[in-house]
Amino acid sequence: MKRCFFVFFMCLFLTGCGNAVREYSAVDTAMGTVVTQRIYTEHEDVTEDITVLLLDLEREELSRRKVGSVIGRINAAAGSGEIVVLPHKLQQELIFLQEFSQKSEGAFDSSLGGLCKLWDIDTWATKTDSPGGSAQDSMPNSSKDSTQDSIQEGPAVSGFVLPTPTEIQAALEHCGYEKISLTKEGISIPEGMVLDLGAAGKGIACDRIHAFLQEQDVEAAVISIGGSVLVYGDKPDNTVWQVAVTDPFHQETYIGTLYLKGTHFVATSGDYERYVEMDGVRYHHILDPFTGYPADSGVVSVTIVSDSGMLSDALSTACFVMGADEGMKLAEEYDAEALFVLKDGSLLMSEGMEQIYREYR
Ligand code: ADP
Ligand code: MG
Repeated sequence: MKRCFFVFFMCLFLTGCGNAVREYSAVDTAMGTVVTQRIYTEHEDVTEDITVLLLDLEREELSRRKVGSVIGRINAAAGSGEIVVLPHKLQQELIFLQEFSQKSEGAFDSSLGGLCKLWDIDTWATKTDSPGGSAQDSMPNSSKDSTQDSIQEGPAVSGFVLPTPTEIQAALEHCGYEKISLTKEGISIPEGMVLDLGAAGKGIACDRIHAFLQEQDVEAAVISIGGSVLVYGDKPDNTVWQVAVTDPFHQETYIGTLYLKGTHFVATSGDYERYVEMDGVRYHHILDPFTGYPADSGVVSVTIVSDSGMLSDALSTACFVMGADEGMKLAEEYDAEALFVLKDGSLLMSEGMEQIYREYR
């Protein structure tokens, strides 16, 4: 991990009781993406602690690429009958995700690791351009994944080989969240299955950071981990948080802004975030667990706002797979706000989203 910029002390506000609330900012890389932080606190700067929290979370728990992580160990034990004991928080999170898979009727599935490997998603390029606009507190999707060793520049990856239908069917045989055995003792998965928490990991990270900010008595913060954003507390100057929503057709700019007061979790899933193009066809990283191919539901991006990072992240992925009509119903069930951008450029949003979203002109 490299600290891209030094953490720097920015400015000073005075609170009513006379304690100074300082603003600290940092830009780092963690969880395979760019992490930006702005923290308002009367206490010590915690930006470095948050970066360490993220790196530990990835290395020790979530990454399927790290052999020593919990997910890595579960995958290594696939088919052996070994029950891997889970840390308490992760156990709760996986229980939630299993229920969520059921509710989404399988559109969200944490067991697609084998399929992701077959498509070789890890080697695909990501969008690195950043939209401008200093008025925004956060630019979701603006700081794309940039640190994985294998990432190449541009959307066309040399040597990309389209998996055959037979290979896809064979990979699908080893997928299926309902085949995961998750009890209070621990977890085990069948032979050939590979867990992949890529669709919820950044949201889980936002939840863990949220708990940390509360523990540390931080006044307010805005944290962006790739396409997942946490806005926390009230800004000391009493203005609302502004979170930009990337234009899926022109990622150097944004289609609009979310105006948020208090604590919220925002996540966006889009077909432009990680993809490869061949013969004029775009193959992106959100897979339809029923077909084994990149989801093709008529949606190009989904933005979710809710009171849980994991829920926002998982919902954005599930809604992308399910499409606008079914996705909207699922978001409603979870009391989350949703904004769909469809292939023809039209927008579809929940009632609550209409209250907080303003189009950029
Ligand atoms: P991003 O990681 O770019 O924010 P998502 O949250 O939508 O995007 O997650 C996509 C990642 O999740 C993929 O790279 C893959 O690892 C995994 N994945 C792909 N399709 C699914 C799916 N239907 N359900 C669960 N995980 C998925
Ligand atoms: Mg997601």
